[in-house]
Amino acid sequence: MTATASYRGRFAPTPSGPLHLGSLVAALGSYLDARAAGGQWLVRIEDIDPPRCPDGADLTILQQLERFGLYWDEAVCWQHTRSDAYQRALEQLITQRLAYPCSCSRKQWQNFDVYPGWCRDGVRDATKPIAWRLRSDLGQRPVVWQDRLFGRQQFDPAALGDVVLKRKDALWAYQLAVVVDDADQAITDIVRGYDLLDNTPWQRQLQAALGYATPRYLHLPLVVSADGQKLSKQNLAPPLADAPDAVRRQLHQALTLLDQAPPATLASEPVDTQLQWAIAHWSPERLTPHAHRPTPEEP
Ligand SMILES: [Zn+2]
Repeated sequence: MTATASYRGRFAPTPSGPLHLGSLVAALGSYLDARAAGGQWLVRIEDIDPPRCPDGADLTILQQLERFGLYWDEAVCWQHTRSDAYQRALEQLITQRLAYPCSCSRKQWQNFDVYPGWCRDGVRDATKPIAWRLRSDLGQRPVVWQDRLFGRQQFDPAALGDVVLKRKDALWAYQLAVVVDDADQAITDIVRGYDLLDNTPWQRQLQAALGYATPRYLHLPLVVSADGQKLSKQNLAPPLADAPDAVRRQLHQALTLLDQAPPATLASEPVDTQLQWAIAHWSPERLTPHAHRPTPEEP
C-alpha cells in the first residue's frame, strides 16, 4: 500500500479544558475507524486561541487519552507552532484574490445574519485593524459531499458568509488552521462530532482553493445531556473519570454511544481488552444519525 493510499485519521481537540464524555466519543470514533482500517491515528492540539486554553490543559488531554488506551502515532502537532504554514496559505489565497482584508466590526453588521461582504472590493476603513476573510462567493459552489453517516450534503458557502481566516488580533481562525494542518498531515479521513458538519463547506472550499486533496468525512452523532444540550465545557460536562474502574465503565459507555452494542461483560475488562474488541468489531454502519444521550445510571 502506498503512503497516499493508506488511512490517516486524527483527533484534534481544543485544549479549553479536560475531555468529557462527548469528546471521548469523538476521539474513540476516530481512533477505531483508523485502527480498524489498519491506519495511522494522529493527535493535534488546536491551541490557536490562547485565551481559551488554560495552561496545562493540553497535557491533561494527552494523559486522558493514554488513560483510555488511545495511543497516537507520530509526534503531537501543536497549532501554536504552525503560524508560518498558515501565513503561507493565507498569502496564496490573497494572491488568488480569494482572501481580503476587512475592517468591519460585528456591531456594524449586527442587522445581518452573516457578514455582508462590504470590504470585498476594498477595505472600508484603512485606519482600523483588519481581519482577513474568505471570498466564499468566488470558490466552488455549491459545496457537495457525501458524509459517511449523514449522507449527501449540499451547502452554498456564500450563504454561510465570508468566514474569517485571520482575526483582527492576529490570531489564526479555526477554518484555515484545520485545513492547512489536515493537508500537511496528509489526513485522509476526518471523523468528528456532528457540531462541525456545517464548518465543512468552508473547509472544502479552502481545500479546493489551496489545491489540497479532499478527505472523506464521517460526522458522529452528538452526545447530549438529559435536556438535549450538547455535552461541552460551557454546559459544565464533567471531565472524564480518572479511577481505573470508572475509566473502564466510561469507555464501555462511549462504545455504546457509538452504537457498537458492546457486550455488558466488557465493561469490567481493562481498556486494552475493550479496545481490541472494539477494533475487531468496529461497524460504522451501525451508527445512527440522531443525538445520543448517555444512559442515566452513568455519571
Ligand atoms: Zn469589512
